[in-house]
Amino acid sequence: MKGVLAILGGTFDPVHIGHLRAAIELAEALSAAELRLMPCAVPPHRPQPGASPSQRLAMLEAAASGLTGIRVDARELDRPGPSYTVDTLSALRTEEGDRPIVLAMGADAFAGLPSWHRWEELIGLAHLAVLTRPDSHQRLDPRLETLLAQAGPADASTLAGQPAGALIRIEIPPIPVSSTLIRQRLAEGRSLAHLVPAAVLALIDQHGLYRRDR
Ligand code: ATP
Repeated sequence: MKGVLAILGGTFDPVHIGHLRAAIELAEALSAAELRLMPCAVPPHRPQPGASPSQRLAMLEAAASGLTGIRVDARELDRPGPSYTVDTLSALRTEEGDRPIVLAMGADAFAGLPSWHRWEELIGLAHLAVLTRPDSHQRLDPRLETLLAQAGPADASTLAGQPAGALIRIEIPPIPVSSTLIRQRLAEGRSLAHLVPAAVLALIDQHGLYRRDR
């Protein structure tokens, strides 16, 4: 069996240090062989992104370059229509056989899971990892409490020994940064130094992204 494949999906509009630290912490906690950052095409439950798909991808590629074991998987941008995670995981399962796959998400994204297309099928296709995030103190949907109770406690070695079906919580040091904060800072003409990698900042400047006067 190949080593653990971890997936961190998102809009990445734009990618920021919170995403990147989460990816690194996650890969370390799972001893993952590979971590893929996966930008989504048309987020079904969210307003349309401020940057185009190719701009979001270029920023993500720039952010991931030089990070060992972390790469970008652009399959959802290549597929027409909305990005349904269940379709992505089905395709990955076909490609990867019985390799352990871990779908990771922040606690805020996990809280909204019951609104995802065919969400109950996800745990049969991959493990789920929930990353703690500073601004998420929501009460969980009872359906998620049931899922948590059914999946039972898991650790990294349980995950590595089976392809799917476990749910793990991974505590990461909080970095209270979001793409919303980045876009607000830009709209106000404020500095983004140390909130996004320098290479991402260069692309934002070059394309004049997220400015109020665009
Ligand atoms: P927005 O502010 O536009 O909602 P976002 O910063 O939450 O965006 P997404 O692209 O939606 O970014 O996030 C992708 C994934 O990364 C989600 O699972 C989200 O919970 C997680 N994430 C985002 N920011 C952080 C952070 N600071 N720490 C840990 N996880 C994060």
